Order: sequence, then C-alpha cells, then structure tokens
Amino acid sequence: MPHRKFGDGDVVMGRWPGSVLYYEVQITSYDDLTHLYTVKYKDGTELELKESDIKSVSAFKHRKSNSSSPSRRGGSRSRSRSPGRPARGRRRSSSQGRDAKDDKKKAIRETKLTPEKLNENNTSRYNGEPDSTERNDTSHKILQQKVDLDLEIDRVLDQYRVRSRKEDKTKEETYSEKRSFEAAKTIEKASAQTKELEFGGRIGTFCMIVFMPATVLYLLLMCKQEDPSIMNFPPPLPSFDSLWETRVFGVWLVWFFLQALFYLLPVGKVVEGTPLLNGRKLQYRINGFYAFALTAAVVGISLYFELELHYLYDHFLQFAVSAIVFSVVFSIYLYIRSLKAPEENLSPGGNSGRFIYDFFTGRELNPRIGNFDLKYFCELRPSLIGWVVVNLAMLLAEMKIHNQNAPSLSMILVNSFQLLYVMDALWHEEAILTTMDITHDGFGFMLAFGDLVWVPFIFSLQAFYLVGHPNEITWLAASAIIILNMSGYYIFRCANSQKNAFRKNPKDPRLAHLKCIPTATGKSLLVSDWWGFVRHPNYLGDVIMALAWSLPCGFNHILPYFYAIYFTLFIIHREARDGRQCKKKYGLAWDRYCQRVPYRIIPYIY
Ligand code: NDP
Repeated sequence: MPHRKFGDGDVVMGRWPGSVLYYEVQITSYDDLTHLYTVKYKDGTELELKESDIKSVSAFKHRKSNSSSPSRRGGSRSRSRSPGRPARGRRRSSSQGRDAKDDKKKAIRETKLTPEKLNENNTSRYNGEPDSTERNDTSHKILQQKVDLDLEIDRVLDQYRVRSRKEDKTKEETYSEKRSFEAAKTIEKASAQTKELEFGGRIGTFCMIVFMPATVLYLLLMCKQEDPSIMNFPPPLPSFDSLWETRVFGVWLVWFFLQALFYLLPVGKVVEGTPLLNGRKLQYRINGFYAFALTAAVVGISLYFELELHYLYDHFLQFAVSAIVFSVVFSIYLYIRSLKAPEENLSPGGNSGRFIYDFFTGRELNPRIGNFDLKYFCELRPSLIGWVVVNLAMLLAEMKIHNQNAPSLSMILVNSFQLLYVMDALWHEEAILTTMDITHDGFGFMLAFGDLVWVPFIFSLQAFYLVGHPNEITWLAASAIIILNMSGYYIFRCANSQKNAFRKNPKDPRLAHLKCIPTATGKSLLVSDWWGFVRHPNYLGDVIMALAWSLPCGFNHILPYFYAIYFTLFIIHREARDGRQCKKKYGLAWDRYCQRVPYRIIPYIY
C-alpha cells in the first residue's frame, strides 16, 4: 500500500498549476500508480496534483506567518503568478515594489481567481464568471468594483507571501499568461493514462478501423455505378488487379514525398505552437501556401507537356487503395515509434494502454523526425492540396468524357467553393496550431487515415460524382447556391478570425467591444458577437458550406450529400468532445458560458 499523506475528502491547500498560489481544494481521489491526487478547486476545475503541490491548511498558515520576514518587508515583495498575468521578461529592482503591487492588483482584477481566505472574509465564492469582471459594464459599476477590489486585493496580497524570494525571481522571469495555462496542462499531463475512452472505446475504434476504409471503397464504387442509388445492392468488390497497381502506388509515393520536400523548403516564417503539456513550444514553418503555389506550378507544367491528369480519374480506386495501404502502414509506424516516446510527448487522449484504442486515436501528440512534424505536415499538404488536385482531375475528366469545351456550371461551383476553402485554410495556416487536432489529439490511424484518405478521396466525392452523373443547373439556382456558400464562408471566417485574434492578444483594442468571461486558467471565453450567437459559430459556417457543396449535384441521388450528412454528424460529435474538454479546463466558467449561450451550433435548433 503506497504511502499517501492526505485522504479522500480532505480539505487542503492545492497549488494552482503554473503559479505559486495555493487555493483551498478538496481531495476527491488518489491514483496509486501515478501517485497523483485528484483535487477539486472551488471554481469546479478538477486537476491532478503531486503531493509536493499540496499542503495542509495549517502548514499554509504557518508558512504564511513565516513569510513576513524582514527580507519581505524590504520592498521586493514576492510576485504572484496568478493565472492571467501578462508576461514580463525583465528583472525588477526593489524600487519597483509599488509597481509590483499594482501589477498584482491588476492580475487579480483580470482573473478574479479569489483565494479561499478572501472568500471567507467576503462570504462570496468564485463561481467561474464574476459578472463584475465582464467587459462593457457601466462605468460607475466598474468604479465601485475597483474600490471593493482594491480592498480585497490588499488583503489577498498578504496571503501571497508563501514562498521564498529565490523562487519569486526565477518564476517571475519565466512567467507569462500562456505559461500559466501550459502549466495547468502539465499537471493534467502527469496523469499517465487516458482513463475516459471516446469513440465507443475499444469496440468503437475497432469498428471504425474496419468501416472507414470499407466506406471509402463503397462510396467510390457506388459513384462509378450508372444508378448510384444507395437502395441498390452494393456492387461486388472488383478483382485484385482493379484495386491495386504498383505504378499507381509509386505515383502516390511521389506525390507524398514531393509535398514533404515542399514542406522542408526554408521559405515562410517559423512560428511557435501553443505551449505543450510540458511547457515547451514547438516551432512550425508556415509555408503551406507556398507548397500550394509550387504544386500549382508543377501541375500547370505537367498539363503543358500534355501529361494526362485524367490518369487520376481512371485509376481513382487504385489511388484510394494505395492511400489506404500507406496510411495503415504509416499508422503502424506511428504506433511503434510512440512506444519509445517519452511520456511527456504522449497525447492526453491516446494513452489508454489498450492497443486498438491507442492505435486509432494516436499515442504520440506531435511525432517528429528531427524538425519534420509528421502530423502538422499531413494535416494540410497531402490532404488539402491533394483534394484540390483530385477536383481538378475530375473537372478535366468531365470535359474529356463528355467532349465539352468548358466544364459544367455545377463542376465549376464545386471546384471553386472547395478551392476557396482550401486556400483559406492554407492562407490561415497558423490558425491550425490552436485546433484540437494539433493541441489535443495524438497522431494515429484516425488522423493519418483522415488526412491521407478521407479528405482527398471523400471530400472530392461531389466532383467525382458529377463526372459520371452530370447535373445541369440554371444561373438562378447557381446564384442561390453561391449566396449560401458565401454566407457559410463569412460566418466560418469571421468566427475563426475573431477567436484566433482574441487568443493571440485578448487585449487587442479592436476586440475591446467584445464581452468575455474570465476563467480560472487565465484565459477568457468570448460571450458576445459571434461566440455569443452559438457556442460554435465556426462549425455552423462549415455546415452551411458543406450543404452548398452538395447542392450543385442536384437531387437525383443522396450519394453526393454524403459529405454534408457525414460532416454534420462529425461536427456534432466534435462539438460534444470539445465541450467535455472545455468543461474540464474551465469548470464552472464553462457552465456559465453554456448558460449564456444555450445553442451549440444552430440557433434555436441545436
Ligand atoms: P475551434 O476552433 O472552435 O476550437 C475549439 C476551442 O476554441 C475550444 O477548445 C476552446 O479552446 C476555444 N473556445 C471555445 N469557445 C470559446 C469562446 N467562447 N471564446 C474563446 N475561445 C473559445 O474548433 P476546431 O479546432 O474543432 O475547428 C477549427 C475549424 O476547423 C472550425 O472552423 C471547424 O469547422 C474546422 N474543421 C473542419 C473540418 C473538416 O473536416 N472540414 C474538421 C475539423 C475542423 P481554448 O479555450 O483552449 O482556446
């Protein structure tokens, strides 16, 4: 029986991750394997803490009284690293003591993460969203709150004297708002194993590993049928020769490594990703748009020399099989290499110890060969750029097969809508660094297959369908579809840009009109404008676009609507996953956000 100092239910002082502040927490459980305590903060946030980050309430009081040593009174007051403090990269002199105190006040104002002692005095509890800190309050209210807050802060500052000055100095120099958040995750990370299984656990993930490739083959085979009604019996599986050709696999490999080469080119800026769970930040080269331009040049030159892009259409099924084989082998490689990865590099969601589950969700968060980030590379380049090339091949195939001098209006719409989507993603490439795929999900079969097979071969289904099943549309219908697509794009782009800008710099004066809810982690949640409309306005825009991409295919068959249907279900599931993660991160603040913004994706409906 391992030694544990505190029991379940004990009320103790827990260090707020990334800071040197202690808050009253209650121990809810203890993990014998990892030696970590799960504790609950007053704002509802649950975290796992090491024993060294927990103190008994009496020890806390004892240290507090010790802290009023002469050195502390000498003007160099210890600096709190309360979540939400802005970064400071410089050393302070003792004459800056006054500033230090002001800064502390500011930090507390910003976060309003109120230590327990304060709550006792004021009989108010931190609930995740102190309405008083929301922006855009009336000015007299703010003034009154400031006065109250100042009184509170003076009392709170006394409680911050819980650590040595030496610790202050080193931490003060490394502190930043982001670091307080990353450190919060560090503790989360320390829980070695994934306990909550998603995607239906082992059985669910096993089924997906089998059904995802099967679905791709089924849809592509159906699309080739004269009558692609899903009510028909599925077509028989073609012979091995029709599914596999080594030359096609070779072309696929050339494509993949050509994109890898473009990724390695030293053009484009290098940026830092969001802090990893261990506090480190990885560097990423932003050159997706260059890769796209170079690919366009290569394709243009190939067409000039009459290299037939039609080949892609003729061998589409074989290309899909090549991509499936490649992604399976690649996923096995990713799993094997993850076994040797240090624990701090593992994804929080893909380390359950169950082979199938971890193989599917991905064990390693950011597998890299040197500086080559495998997940980041696959997310945008072979997948999104590949999708555009496939669409173009379909457009040329349509013209050739139907002896047209120009592509059909339907084909032009599908191609241009999706081209816009891809170019937008590449133009805003940096934004991908804050998405769930990069920050949370490991790189395993799910993303490898999604990037290398699902995106280029399923997202292009409408264009593939139109080659065999042309659909005439009027200019009036086309105009309505264009308006629908552009509305979706507008919502999608505005919502994503607003959140990205806010996450980059919450104090950006251009965002001053936005209301937000502070959270215990130091980050705030937007609660007005796009993010007050529904909880995921960006998903809403994406769903609208998905519908607009299918409409040019007409209403004869449901097959070209597969993407719109699948994507709606996918995004509903993703929203639920994200909601669970946000609840874990933000505790009651997230509940308040959900109360304030009741609809998830579609206003008044869902
Ligand atoms: P989001 O970009 O919406 O990111 C979710 C995160 O945003 C949350 O975890 C939280 O992270 C932050 N957040 C949530 N609510 C708020 C708020 N009110 N204020 C501030 N921050 C908030 O989701 P995804 O990463 O899933 O998607 C990114 C884009 O990519 C979307 O437009 C989506 O439609 C698109 N997409 C498209 C796919 C496709 O197949 N076509 C697949 C997947 C995504 P934190 O607080 O930690 O910053």
